[in-house]
Amino acid sequence: MNARANLLGLHHITAIAADPKVNRDFYTRVLGLRFVKKSVNQDDPGTYHLYYGDNVGSPGTALTFFPWMGLRRGRPGTGQAYATGFSVPASSLTYWQKRLSELKITAEPVESRFGDRVLPFADPDGMRLELVATAESDPRTPAPSADVPAEHGIRGFHSGTLALTSGTATAALLTDVMGCRLHQREGHRARYTTATGGPGTYVDLLADPSLPRGLTGAGTVHHIAFRVADDADHVAAHDLLVAHGFHVSNVIDRAYFKSIYYREPAGVLFEIATDQPGFAIDEPVESLGAKLSLPPRLEPHRAEIEAALPSLE
Ligand code: ZN
Repeated sequence: MNARANLLGLHHITAIAADPKVNRDFYTRVLGLRFVKKSVNQDDPGTYHLYYGDNVGSPGTALTFFPWMGLRRGRPGTGQAYATGFSVPASSLTYWQKRLSELKITAEPVESRFGDRVLPFADPDGMRLELVATAESDPRTPAPSADVPAEHGIRGFHSGTLALTSGTATAALLTDVMGCRLHQREGHRARYTTATGGPGTYVDLLADPSLPRGLTGAGTVHHIAFRVADDADHVAAHDLLVAHGFHVSNVIDRAYFKSIYYREPAGVLFEIATDQPGFAIDEPVESLGAKLSLPPRLEPHRAEIEAALPSLE
């Protein structure tokens, strides 16, 4: 067994929203992501699970939501995956500033971070998003979009930022068990990367004492998932976490990937997910997201589930 988990970067990030239609309109029309899967929360099939990403929802591009209509807002803060960063070309910052302004979306002042410029803003539920205009090479192809030209399109995740009161124990987990390495430090922020490095592999630990304690609700992240290439690396990661004393779930088959879950020392829910089989397993790539996808055990209840879900149109 490897002494460290063999992670390939971020796999997906799952967050909590209120109105599902508002959520879908924002991520597809404003940000130009593709709606790649319409499913239900497997633990609460009366609510949606909505997935956005590149053309096929590739690992490293998939942002997913549990929307609960009318849910009160949470508060992004410590103990949470605090901000979700998307990779865009360095030359696209002006395009996005203008686009957000025209769409009446308030952005915060541009930040400089590890040499990149970062445009922070929020989604309709107050979820903290960042466009990281990076000069680093990112060969990923944006989702096809009628609203955002390909040259400016989001290429996938850049980084996930965890807000913590102290980063020490989390850093030890990342480096000693999960095979990450310290990339750079700046102010209260320490950037880690899985072994391969580059946009889509960064986890930032932000130990900023001025941040409030996070409260779960609409606009906050539920969990952050890391990638492994295959089942063998998945099982190895599971066993390694167990050997280090973490309470890890058994391997759960989520249809589009297999998952294990555990809480890191500061309270953020982590997941490790397999790259395979992906979102095209139950509908063709051309029509991803068109129909309601249900796991086999829920298929017999399709009619009543569909009747109870709000319309997205
Ligand atoms: Zn997940």
